[in-house]
Amino acid sequence: MNITIVGTGYVGLVTGTTLAELGNSVYCVDIDEKKVEGMKKGIVPIYEPNLEEMFLRNIQSERLFFTTDLQEALEKSEVIYLALPTPPGEDGSADLSYVLSVADKVGEMITEYKVIVNKSTVPVGTADRVREVISARTNIEFDVVSNPEFLREGFAVEDSMNPARVVVGSSSERAKDIMSQIYQPFTNTGIPIIFMDEKSSELTKYASNSFLAVKITFMNEIANYCEKVGADVDKVRLGMGSDDRIGNRFLFPGIGYGGSCFPKDVKALIRSGKDENFDFEILEATEKVNISQKVILVSEIEKYFNGDIAGKTIAVWGLAFKANTDDIREASSLDNIEILLEKGAKVVAYDTVAEKNVRKILDDKIQYAKSMYEALENADALLIATEWPEFKNPNFKMMSEKMNNKVIFDGRNLYPLEIPEQNGFFYKSIGRKTILG
Ligand code: NAD
Repeated sequence: MNITIVGTGYVGLVTGTTLAELGNSVYCVDIDEKKVEGMKKGIVPIYEPNLEEMFLRNIQSERLFFTTDLQEALEKSEVIYLALPTPPGEDGSADLSYVLSVADKVGEMITEYKVIVNKSTVPVGTADRVREVISARTNIEFDVVSNPEFLREGFAVEDSMNPARVVVGSSSERAKDIMSQIYQPFTNTGIPIIFMDEKSSELTKYASNSFLAVKITFMNEIANYCEKVGADVDKVRLGMGSDDRIGNRFLFPGIGYGGSCFPKDVKALIRSGKDENFDFEILEATEKVNISQKVILVSEIEKYFNGDIAGKTIAVWGLAFKANTDDIREASSLDNIEILLEKGAKVVAYDTVAEKNVRKILDDKIQYAKSMYEALENADALLIATEWPEFKNPNFKMMSEKMNNKVIFDGRNLYPLEIPEQNGFFYKSIGRKTILG
């Protein structure tokens, strides 16, 4: 099948590459000329494990193409995926201007039947709005389908090639047949495709992300309570997770959720609720708890230094919002660094993958180390903000030699307590006993 993907970010590029890998001819459209030029030369614009190899293979096989020209791509395709940003507006609602302005252009440009597939995360009713915008421009027949994306950054290729399920919201039999054809390589291997109406499909995405945000936040509150009563959240987590009604995933406490999805989707669902005079009380609480959880360790750092961190050097391991991505949108690291700088501390950060994105925001307000150990030179404390695998089994002897003080604030609970203890470190993590060193 010939497919256009509009927007080649984390979702669009991975979806486009996957659909090309499955044998389709895919035309990726983006307004970012530099990005498109780079992709034409084989440069992958994002960091995503295992993407580059598949990307290059499909360019070479002439199944994956890049252009800034929407019209040219549309002419070649029967199906048009929208993978455009839906960032939070000032009131928290999803900003639909990217989606609706492309829909408007599609309406102007189409000359024969097309299926417009919305992969962006959008509020209930957006398929209807897209339909209205296109209808206002054309009499040509078309269908609008909701096909929310569930991939995880860091595992995007794996998730996209082997999704747990495909959700398709459509009221058109013709569009459903076309979507079934596109996803037939998945259904053939037993991956379910769940058809429903557009509104239910749109809500499925928000409900899923919000549920996961609640699960993380619930566990963070349990962790904070563990500290009050002397329980160990690791034990509680294992005890809870072995109940298959609960499951052991998303039970790891830490310094809050970030990224481009959970914070924005929770906000947008709260906002959508308000539009219907409906209060999502559980989500309002989740959002509030998460905001304070993200910086819960800064007050611990201050406490350790008797309320004054001015002039202290704090090493920060990890800048990405989670491991295996260069995405720093809503990353906890940034909230922590902002407060540390405000309070006069010096920050030396290490994250070779996310560094280039952080430089665009913080520039030389912080220093960037070339290795995790270089970041520790003369550091008064280490803050671990991302669970990159390389931080999981470090050389504590080398750390001791580099640091001014053997002090770790671990926002990702990377070490069993006995390890920092045996190495003589002060070690504060989340929901567990503090090791005094
Ligand atoms: P992104 O910011 O990484 O990428 C968006 C791309 O769209 C950019 O390359 C941008 O240049 C391009 N673009 C903007 N306006 C355009 C236009 N008029 N024409 C063509 N291209 C245009 O965004 P993303 O993270 O891929 O997210 C896209 C959507 O998917 C959002 O709604 C998001 O909520 C949703 N989503 C994201 C993830 C994720 O993990 N990132 C997962 C599931 C769903």
